[in-house]
Amino acid sequence: MTERLCRTCGTTITAKSKSGLCRPCARKDPEIKAKKSASVKLAYQRDPVYLEEQRQRLLERNRSNKMRALAGKKAKELRIWEKGNAAMTPELRQRAGKTLSERRLSHIPPEVRDDYRRLTRNRFRRDEATALVMDLHAHRMGKFIRKLVQESA
Ligand SMILES: [Zn+2]
Repeated sequence: MTERLCRTCGTTITAKSKSGLCRPCARKDPEIKAKKSASVKLAYQRDPVYLEEQRQRLLERNRSNKMRALAGKKAKELRIWEKGNAAMTPELRQRAGKTLSERRLSHIPPEVRDDYRRLTRNRFRRDEATALVMDLHAHRMGKFIRKLVQESA
């Protein structure tokens, strides 16, 4: 029997190979990739339980320390933050700033956030400023509620 060779790279392949390619070349071949992808897709469509199992398996795998470290390394290699920064428009930056500010001040009622900002700018510590604006808010709410009660009486 003559030795079979991969039709792309020329390494020896087994007689069983249907594609005439070695494994690494077969993995890169677009036609074979498309076939494999289609058959996996079909298997997922036929069996929702299998799909869910695979989904969970991949989620767990991606959450592992090893995969996280790999993703981090890849991100550094690709310097992805540069792409992110380049994609930022002034409008996006403004929106991001607003979102971050709202998240940081989520413990402060919106009505007294400007007061809080003024106090922290005037060298009050965050916990002091929080206590002051929460008092102010409670006072205003008390007044508001008393007014409502009077009006409805
Ligand atoms: Zn090959």
